[in-house]
Amino acid sequence: MTLPPEDHPRYKSLMAREKLVEAADAVARQGLIAHGRGEAFDYLLGEQTCPPAMDAIRAAASMMVGATNPVISVNGNVVALAAREVAHLSEVSGAKVEINLFHRTPERVAALTRMMGDAGVKALGENDDANIPGLTSERAKCCSDGIGSADVILVPLEDGDRCRALVDMGKQVITIDLNPLSRTAQTAHVTIVDELTRCLPLLTESVRDGSEVEDFDNKKNLQKVIGFISDRLSRIE
Ligand code: ATP
Repeated sequence: MTLPPEDHPRYKSLMAREKLVEAADAVARQGLIAHGRGEAFDYLLGEQTCPPAMDAIRAAASMMVGATNPVISVNGNVVALAAREVAHLSEVSGAKVEINLFHRTPERVAALTRMMGDAGVKALGENDDANIPGLTSERAKCCSDGIGSADVILVPLEDGDRCRALVDMGKQVITIDLNPLSRTAQTAHVTIVDELTRCLPLLTESVRDGSEVEDFDNKKNLQKVIGFISDRLSRIE
């Protein structure tokens, strides 16, 4: 890994890019494009966890705490950027972790399983004995003892089509997505519009606190995020 200088003003962002490049065998090239889209939205947010994102974090924690069989579904970007943070959330919430890929190959599943293993988690994914109904090709595959039987799924950085398919399966879906306008953000039951590595420790803390949220309106929360962005932009001189 080529380490960026620590005093560089964009050190964290450059480190994230390095991590993705370092994990190039496990991260789909398309994932690099998705990362760039996320970075652009993070600029608009001012690279901070905005107040409506904190409300969504508490709602997501409440869903995870109340779940019978929660699962954290991870792809290449998520593992490359946040394997340790995912491991910590899994430990605190009791959620299983499943490798679930849009661009699925046995080699990538094996590489990501190893990376999660290095972070201390035995991830599901290699025994892909079930399908997500409504999807075709390799991207439909999942595990019956993971996503197949989950009641609550946290699926960060997901594609809109697959998010819709999970909702249609009757799952309660939480996503983390910097783009409040993406189809995933609009389809999930709880959307946390925040950067993955910034948000996961906050979510873990909220699960540990035993957060209880009775009513959460995702559409209204997304409106508040968009309001936060436009308000911020209108004040920039
Ligand atoms: P959709 O299909 O949901 O309309 P999309 O075509 O952008 O959206 P993908 O490219 O699969 O779908 O989604 C990746 C999403 O993840 C993007 O919306 C991007 O903003 C977001 N994203 C990328 N990196 C991060 C990150 N580090 N933290 C949070 N969100 C991120």
